[in-house]
Amino acid sequence: MKRIGVLTSGGDAPGMNAAIRAVVRKAIYHNLEVFGIYYGYQGLINGDIKKLELGSVGDIIHRGGTVLYTARCEEFKTEEGQQKGIDQLKKFGIEGLVVIGGDGSFKGAKKLSEQGIPTVGVPGTIDNDIPGTDFTIGFDTALNTVIDAVDKIRDTATSHERTYVIEVMGRDAGDLALWAGLADGAETIMIPEVNENMDEIIKRLKRGHERGKKHSIIIVAEGVGSGVDIGRTIQEETKLETRVTVLGHIQRGGSPTARDRVLASRLGAKAVELLLVGEAGQVVGIENNKIVYHAIGDALAQKPAFDQDMYQLSKELSI
Ligand code: ADP
Repeated sequence: MKRIGVLTSGGDAPGMNAAIRAVVRKAIYHNLEVFGIYYGYQGLINGDIKKLELGSVGDIIHRGGTVLYTARCEEFKTEEGQQKGIDQLKKFGIEGLVVIGGDGSFKGAKKLSEQGIPTVGVPGTIDNDIPGTDFTIGFDTALNTVIDAVDKIRDTATSHERTYVIEVMGRDAGDLALWAGLADGAETIMIPEVNENMDEIIKRLKRGHERGKKHSIIIVAEGVGSGVDIGRTIQEETKLETRVTVLGHIQRGGSPTARDRVLASRLGAKAVELLLVGEAGQVVGIENNKIVYHAIGDALAQKPAFDQDMYQLSKELSI
């Protein structure tokens, strides 16, 4: 293999730049040429492809977002779209590809692998919803952003007697809410993996209030439903003044934490290593602090792990 490509696709995540940098530097270290494919699969179809040098990825390790930009591309879900992408790769002489993204992006990567393009996936998403890795790139940064926001809300919560509902991201996964709730001592954590009884939550809030509790913080994962609706129900049922904050896209931005930069560097480098030894069609990950890899198909077929023990702990510590 002489020439590889790298792209970022789907939702962006802090640390994607550190992963791009690792791919480019590791490839050049091994005398490969690297091409950046801009705007994900859309750019692949359009041939928005440029050669990257060592300096192209200088000064980006600490920046959020992705210097290669990202896009959602419906056309790539079709065989014709995939064929256009493959034609572009052939035109540029690109023999292997690193795809940094979430599970949607990996479905595209699987299609390319099946059609003979050696492709390796690097999990980059704040949702931490990819099977085969304990953590995805961006999760730690997003978690710290959530914690920072909840700490600030807690400051004002102690000044007023109010109930605060905070909606966090995570798509269908509750990890961001669970970790943030545990780290922030939230009274209640609502996640899609656990079917919480609303009546039970209301009763608990009322009991807390009767006991003299001044305020309550409820973290809601977006996968459960709208924080605004949940806040309205709580206010109606408890008669306690309730405020809702939807943290939104603030969670996707910002300078990546040290943990995300290191993870991205390790995973990006491993992806290139796999291409070099001909182990394509894989997704890299971290398990018990070891860098691992699994066949893309297997990674997509499993359900992301959910830590039941951690959920139970959050319950026990928030009585
Ligand atoms: P993420 O990678 O963050 O999960 P998406 O689910 O939006 O984000 O997927 C990103 C892109 O991956 C899509 O816009 C599309 O181009 C490509 N993709 C998603 N699903 C498929 C599929 N089944 N086949 C081919 N490409 C896909």
